[in-house]
Amino acid sequence: MDHTVDTDRAAGRDFVRRIIDRHLEEKRYEGVVTRFPPEPNGYLHLGHAKSIVLNFGLAEEYDGRCHLRYDDTNPLTEDEEYTRSMQADIRWLGYDWGDHLHYASDYFERMYEVARDLIRQGKAYVDSASEEEIREARGTVTEPGRPTPDRDRSVDDNLDLFARMRAGEFPDGEMVLRGKIDLASPNMIMRDPVFYRIRHAHHYRTGDAWCIYPLYDFAHCLEDAFEGVTHSLCTLEFENNREIYDWILDAAGFAEPRPHQYEFARLSVDYTIMSKRKLIRLVQEGYVSGWDDPRMPTIAGLRRRGVPPEALRRFCRSAGVTKTNASLDPSALDFHVRDVLNPVAPRALGVVRPLRVVLTDWPEGHRELLEAPLHPDDPDSPTRRIPMSQGLWIDADDFRKDPPPGWKRLSPGGEVRLRHGYVIRCHSVIEDPEGRPMTLHCTHDRDTLGRNPDRRIGGAIHWVGAEGAVPVEFRLYDRLFREAEPGAGDDEADFVDDLSPDSVQVVRGFVEPALRDRVSAARRAGDAPHDLRVQLERVGYFTVDPDSDGDELVFNRIVPLRDGWKPGAPKAGESKKSERSARTVIHQTDADRISDDRREARAADPELERRFEEYQRAHGLSVKQADLLTGDRATAEFFEAAAGAAGSWTEAAAWMANDLLGLLPDAGVAVVATTGETLGRLVARVREGKVSRRAAKEVLAELVREGGDPDAIIARDGLAPVSDDAALEPVVREVLDAWPDKVAEYRAGNANLVGLFMGQVMKKTGGRADPAAARRWITTLLDDDA
Ligand code: ATP
Ligand code: MG
Repeated sequence: MDHTVDTDRAAGRDFVRRIIDRHLEEKRYEGVVTRFPPEPNGYLHLGHAKSIVLNFGLAEEYDGRCHLRYDDTNPLTEDEEYTRSMQADIRWLGYDWGDHLHYASDYFERMYEVARDLIRQGKAYVDSASEEEIREARGTVTEPGRPTPDRDRSVDDNLDLFARMRAGEFPDGEMVLRGKIDLASPNMIMRDPVFYRIRHAHHYRTGDAWCIYPLYDFAHCLEDAFEGVTHSLCTLEFENNREIYDWILDAAGFAEPRPHQYEFARLSVDYTIMSKRKLIRLVQEGYVSGWDDPRMPTIAGLRRRGVPPEALRRFCRSAGVTKTNASLDPSALDFHVRDVLNPVAPRALGVVRPLRVVLTDWPEGHRELLEAPLHPDDPDSPTRRIPMSQGLWIDADDFRKDPPPGWKRLSPGGEVRLRHGYVIRCHSVIEDPEGRPMTLHCTHDRDTLGRNPDRRIGGAIHWVGAEGAVPVEFRLYDRLFREAEPGAGDDEADFVDDLSPDSVQVVRGFVEPALRDRVSAARRAGDAPHDLRVQLERVGYFTVDPDSDGDELVFNRIVPLRDGWKPGAPKAGESKKSERSARTVIHQTDADRISDDRREARAADPELERRFEEYQRAHGLSVKQADLLTGDRATAEFFEAAAGAAGSWTEAAAWMANDLLGLLPDAGVAVVATTGETLGRLVARVREGKVSRRAAKEVLAELVREGGDPDAIIARDGLAPVSDDAALEPVVREVLDAWPDKVAEYRAGNANLVGLFMGQVMKKTGGRADPAAARRWITTLLDDDA
């Protein structure tokens, strides 16, 4: 493979790829070896997907290899079921580890030998101090640590005790093996970290062979080195662990070229949670139907939901590889799902909330088969046949007794086209006693089948002929949580309190018979249910759920056709907080509808066409983004001003496409109260960490409405986050020190207490702590010292 990269593209490459490019140029390594190292203690989720796409993607791009390695050094939480599910998930995502399936537990003997070697060098010692004593003697950020009495034990005594630890002579917690490093190090991790602890526990692979287990910091770097990994990628919260990674490999005698650790921002997504510990609770406490519940952010859940692997890969790539943690809006994933499915998903008609229509002028018993393309955009598309008879079902939403001005669907006395069929007119409405429409009496116009230029009708609606209609169950999914950051609210808040009451709606409706035939054919071919994905025209993308039983079909909605989260239109029953964010949530434009206009505009204006090309080629924008930004010159110029001020074409494009365009009135950027340059400055503030992404969306909404200066708004509303690690760590430590009982309870397994600690940290920082950073510190410190 050719690794020379032209400078233009290199400029747009992420920092990891730039580092690798340089290493290969310097010939530091012969090839690129990465690894994906999950702990088999749960199912893989979206965050893991990002790491998988990055690590396996690098191996592909550089013609190297990526290992799948189970980091199974903790006997208490691991399980065979999880190792199996993880392999299935990675394969489904489209990656393969070849012969490189590894287990950290296979290295226990070698790790033990390294530990003995460190003891012999005087670089490790057995400490009989208790966990409490060790913690206490470790000091604080402002005070150096003190040696515990065993620190100067002789090498022989250490070797002897370590062997007896392994032999099972001591109970759990009696002693540990610690590195002998530097008790005054400003990096707390370097203050004689624990390498081994005693755990008389059955390991799912090694059984009872071991009763001492290595800790992450000791084990992980060795696993990498044993396997010849070159670039060991982990998330930002491990930044402080890099020093111990290097120290151990140096002490253990691994010379260059050896692995090095690089940290990137973890992926988080609004309105969902990502920690396996929390996901386990949702499963165990029955809030969801299982790990593969289609509302879960697990890869298994997304697969069952019908998300195509290609969309998930694109989503992960679009999140980028950066050094700044940010939380993505879930509509970004929906966007990629639509983008992948739109050109390939066959079309079908289906009615989700059926309302009966009777054609009073239709000859009784008469039946017609209408022909409709499976791919309407493709002139050579194969077709399917749609039966039509006197009775029909339409969607209740497509009828209004009192239509608003500009209503293009059906209303009393009004006309509408049945998609792929005739124009019908509504004459009378039969209502139930509460005044809800039950049946519409309509007539049809026989001259309107196909393209009749004399009969242009405003709207077309989807429908299913009652005769032959296939009754099905639809499961319509929505966000699992109603808060963008579940559990981050008040003191004592528990993330399950933020579960949305309507994350799934189950309704019964109908689909056209050709779709049932398609499902049967797929089953005969042995395809997995989720591999069949269709677009129900005007409704959304759907897949078949494995709960389907014979002819009883269950369809999962993958995504609606358009993003229902319109600015200014919060759904009933939402809290204030969601209302605030709903207003500014991304609202994907309906690309199918308007990209024709933009294409035409570019065809008429070579300057726009040139920019469309250049944005993609020279600046790394996606086709979609380039399209959205080049429909008119004002938008393109606004964007370029934003990119200039933001110092990044891709970030400016993402903000424009995802956040700004959805907030604009029809007249577009020309009439908003702000400028591209101002948006660019806001984007730069986000990158600099001066304001969180979420808060920046609020700022943007205000800029669009009222104009102003981003810095002034951030200052006025006190939006600057305290995410600075140096500032947060002492606060978190103070909180943990103040609640020793709760800390002990947490370590005994009550994970709910994180909410309590969060609340305290928020209190101490006047609510300005960046919640993700604060939570990271809390869990890191709690787990670290455990
Ligand atoms: P969790 O807290 O959900 O259990 P974890 O980090 O403990 O996550 P591991 O199984 O240890 O889970 O992680 C395997 C790999 O996936 C690690 O390299 C880790 O850095 C990466 N990873 C986990 N979560 C994310 C995320 N949200 N974004 C990016 N990478 C992640
Ligand atoms: Mg973990």
